[in-house]
Amino acid sequence: MSDDRAFKIETKVIHSGESRPRILGAVSLPIFQTAMYEYEPVASYHDVKYIRLNNTPNHLALHRKLAALENAEAAVVMASGMAAITTTLLTILRAGDHLLAQNSLYGGTHDFLTRDLGGFGIAHELVDGSRPETWAAKLRPETKAFYVETISNPLIRISELEAAAVFAKKHGLVSIIDNTFASPVNFRPPEHGFDLSIHSGTKYLNGHSDIVGGAVIGRADLVERILHKLDHLGGSMDPHACFLLHRGMKTLALRVHFQNASALAIARFLAGHPAVTLVNYPGLESHPGHAIAARLFDGFGGMMSFELKGGVEAAERFMKRVRLPLVAPSLGGVETLMTRPATTSHLGLDPAERRGLGISDELIRLSVGVEATEDLIEDFKQALA
Ligand code: PLP
Repeated sequence: MSDDRAFKIETKVIHSGESRPRILGAVSLPIFQTAMYEYEPVASYHDVKYIRLNNTPNHLALHRKLAALENAEAAVVMASGMAAITTTLLTILRAGDHLLAQNSLYGGTHDFLTRDLGGFGIAHELVDGSRPETWAAKLRPETKAFYVETISNPLIRISELEAAAVFAKKHGLVSIIDNTFASPVNFRPPEHGFDLSIHSGTKYLNGHSDIVGGAVIGRADLVERILHKLDHLGGSMDPHACFLLHRGMKTLALRVHFQNASALAIARFLAGHPAVTLVNYPGLESHPGHAIAARLFDGFGGMMSFELKGGVEAAERFMKRVRLPLVAPSLGGVETLMTRPATTSHLGLDPAERRGLGISDELIRLSVGVEATEDLIEDFKQALA
């Protein structure tokens, strides 16, 4: 969709990837709820039309739209963010290979690296994403890929992203970035030299907390290999979920712009409150990744984490007292959500491992929704009083 490049993302979420003319004139892409399609001779197994082969009209429209959103060559959707992560890693890496990854990662990814990857004969090593001078020492002749997150979960750290893409290129590694927290509205990794950008579509892309889904966006040659591996591993997205993701993405830009502004106001409120001891939000000048975020991102995002005076007890009290935010895992939806990562996304890590990574038991993670900012701040005020 190279002719779409001139459009802004607000236009692309609506128009990019859509069939022209529309199928049977339908303005909104219908759900093609059919597992298989009448047979036409094709050259490759991967071209047989079948839901598991990720090539129904619902899949193809999403692939085109997602590629356009990040100005990338190609994209593929999957059944979940974890399907996107694991299918990508198992495509790029094989037995005997070595992966370099940032040490502060989404709990599911961290667990897959530390508990499962070894079983496939793939070694890994974790590095501090903010200290590029330490990365080269960890390279091995068999290192094949470098994996980072745009904004880490739940500490909201920002790696040296430009350095990561340059380092990977210099050493012949495939650069992979989980861009879930930023969304394509705030950061587009292919524009900064990353080979592959991964999303949990469950979060901002869909935005309505009613499906799980995932996506991989990036270099066409790599996306094709990942798609073929997906055809075998089977983590395909169902057409109904495709339809909901497609519908959700139409308002992605509207939602994320609002969430950027609301989260900044809430982070400033929390940082100025005497009951709050720490706020991790890249829009605050005090955040160690602020300069990188200000340079590379179009917005600071809707995610933050914070700690209160009084530890776990104070955190639990606060989470019980708030009226608007729901206490539930996941993020990126229209409703404001809160969790204590030690009891949800990072429960799989042992407590010493969690502490080593800087994830305290009292840390609260907040995903700002699209409620009125003033109502959320009033609610936090009463809960902290
Ligand atoms: N990546 C990040 C940053 C996440 O926060 C999550 C889930 O919370 C995932 C990936 C996994 O996504 P899913 O739950 O859609 O498999």
